[in-house]
Amino acid sequence: MNIPRTSYPRVIIIGGGFAGVSLAKKLSKQEVQVVLLDKNNYHTFQPLLYQVSTGGLEPDSIAYPIRKILKNFPNFHFRLAEVNEINSENNYVKTGIGDLKFDYLVVASGSKTNYFGNSEIEKYSMAMKTIPQSLNLRSLILENFEDALLTSDLHERNALMNFVIVGGGPTGVELAGALAEIKKGILPKDYPDLDTRSAQIHIVQSSGCLLKGMSKKASRKAEDFLEKLGVNIWKNVRVTNYDGKTVTTNTDLTFKAATVVWAAGVKGATIKGLDAEDFITRGNRLEVNTFNQVKGFEHIFAIGDIACMATEDTPYGLPMMAQPAIQQGDQLGDNMLRLIEKQSLKPFVYNDKGAMATIGRNKAVVDLPKFKFQGVFAWFVWMFVHLFFLIGFRNRMVVFVNWLYNYVRFDREARLIIRPFKNKKGFN
Ligand SMILES: Cc1cc2nc3c(=O)[nH]c(=O)nc-3n(C[C@H](O)[C@H](O)[C@H](O)COP(=O)(O)OP(=O)(O)OC[C@H]3O[C@@H](n4cnc5c(N)ncnc54)[C@H](O)[C@@H]3O)c2cc1C
Repeated sequence: MNIPRTSYPRVIIIGGGFAGVSLAKKLSKQEVQVVLLDKNNYHTFQPLLYQVSTGGLEPDSIAYPIRKILKNFPNFHFRLAEVNEINSENNYVKTGIGDLKFDYLVVASGSKTNYFGNSEIEKYSMAMKTIPQSLNLRSLILENFEDALLTSDLHERNALMNFVIVGGGPTGVELAGALAEIKKGILPKDYPDLDTRSAQIHIVQSSGCLLKGMSKKASRKAEDFLEKLGVNIWKNVRVTNYDGKTVTTNTDLTFKAATVVWAAGVKGATIKGLDAEDFITRGNRLEVNTFNQVKGFEHIFAIGDIACMATEDTPYGLPMMAQPAIQQGDQLGDNMLRLIEKQSLKPFVYNDKGAMATIGRNKAVVDLPKFKFQGVFAWFVWMFVHLFFLIGFRNRMVVFVNWLYNYVRFDREARLIIRPFKNKKGFN
């Protein structure tokens, strides 16, 4: 891998997401050699993926080169590599570009879509966890409208304009809101020959409320906003299958739909070597103690989505969100220095800064630890927070200008089929 051996201890970080970047930033100023490995050369701001899928933003504005984030640190090395295996006995990782030894290893590989073992759903539904997946979804949505225009079969046309979003968490809610706005503001102009009123957006949620992790008020208001936008909400309904044409559920309800988005769950993105039952706990996550040490190791850590830190307050681990990932990365930076200097480690304490979701123009719900609010002000807060956490001045400016433009013009100009999505298996 062409990485020099120095007198500094070598820390390998797997993953340049929120957790890995936060840790690398902290460590790169210190007397350690930091090697960050990621299968992509960019950091993805996942909370805005749905805007890429719905043509609100170009993908470049929510991605940032990892090398640039850490360009001024001489002890920092980045390699574009997928880690295929971790050898915890001999302390090295196996990657597509070779093996590399470590003194300390930090797994920050995040999470992946959880289909709960249903291979048909995995095959036919769309996920929205990466930029390529979001671009696929963007293409599929637009291609389906183009196809709807061509068919004279009413049932087929309706199915092509039907969207089923499985999962009523923030991702499902935000995507549904964006699609509803497209249906209302853009489709009638783009497709004057098509009766776009028959386009239907459905959210199917297995429990009795949307945004389960947020307050009851936020959940109710989100539902209210979505209903006003014309979204059909199906609660206490569990999707059991999708064969590329029909969504079946545990009730009599079925949907004919060409676009099904699976936003019903994620699981830890484990790596061979540390994927045995001994290390894994609920949600396919690595079990860690309050210092983020993986069960059974002093020199192997996990942070972010992949780590399950169960405490009395959070028996199932911390939420798989950006804040726990950023805070764990930051704290582990301090702890690793303590460990190297043979000092005692400080336990991680999560500072819950709240949660938020936007449903559309002037519509958002925000739960802060002390205040909960919804509506226009919440929407501005949502925008400000997302701009603040985006990496890179250019990205912030581009996103801000796009949002301003979209707001004033009621538009989403990135509705482009740049890379057609050929994999529509069910329809066509
Ligand atoms: C659509 C969507 C919307 C979201 N909205 C919100 C929100 O509004 N608010 C919020 O707080 N959170 C939100 N989240 C969750 C949040 O994005 C995650 O909790 C956060 O990204 C976790 O950070 P992480 O560093 O653990 O993992 P990630 O950010 O996923 O980073 C993991 C990194 O590891 C790399 N990687 C994985 N495996 C390997 C390997 N084997 N070899 C090399 N590299 C590897 C990946 O390429 C990636 O860069 C959302 C997530 C999604 C998908």
